[in-house]
Amino acid sequence: MYDIAIIGAGPAGASAALFAAKAGKKTLVLDSDKSMTKRAWIENHYGMTEISGPDLIEVGKKQASKFGAKIVEDKVTNIIKTDTGFQIEAEQGSFEAQHVIFATGALVELAEKVGLKTKPGTEPRIKTVLDVDSAGKTNIDGIWAAGTIAGVSVHTIITAGDCI
Ligand SMILES: Cc1cc2nc3c(=O)[nH]c(=O)nc-3n(C[C@H](O)[C@H](O)[C@H](O)COP(=O)(O)OP(=O)(O)OC[C@H]3O[C@@H](n4cnc5c(N)ncnc54)[C@H](O)[C@@H]3O)c2cc1C
Repeated sequence: MYDIAIIGAGPAGASAALFAAKAGKKTLVLDSDKSMTKRAWIENHYGMTEISGPDLIEVGKKQASKFGAKIVEDKVTNIIKTDTGFQIEAEQGSFEAQHVIFATGALVELAEKVGLKTKPGTEPRIKTVLDVDSAGKTNIDGIWAAGTIAGVSVHTIITAGDCI
């Protein structure tokens, strides 16, 4: 049983994992390797003159791993509420966690399947986001959201900072 399972290892998810693991939480990250950030060349991320999206993601995952987060490449297909938390079903395995953070970027298919409330996005090319409060809390107790799917500005430094 993980304390926190994070769906997505883009800037939002890996950053959430870094903070959670560093705080001592048993942290799992599941990622399907479809990050929009992989297509970016970034020159506006504080602290770096320039970096490719793939490199930023690799560094982020390494930072999270360094503090103990377990990162698994797998696509999550369903999340079911249980008496103790959530059962997370992925294509290649099944996991349990007390809390779940959605950091799935522009991809909302899983969130809609799970029954998370959505609303229209306001950022360019982001059609749908989750309807969350200012802390990222969704309509399902124990499920939170961060980054693009939580409706914040679609920039790496913003999505990475949205996990706190
Ligand atoms: C072409 C392009 C250029 C860009 N250039 C810049 C730039 O120069 N500067 C800048 O600041 N920003 C740039 N951006 C925006 C930047 O990529 C985003 O703001 C930000 O990185 C999004 O982070 P995220 O973690 O929310 O989503 P993403 O990086 O998209 O990560 C979401 C992750 O969730 C995973 N996921 C989704 N569904 C599932 C599932 N069911 N199971 C498992 N995993 C799942 C995906 O595989 C993905 O890895 C650019 C974007 C694009 C597309």
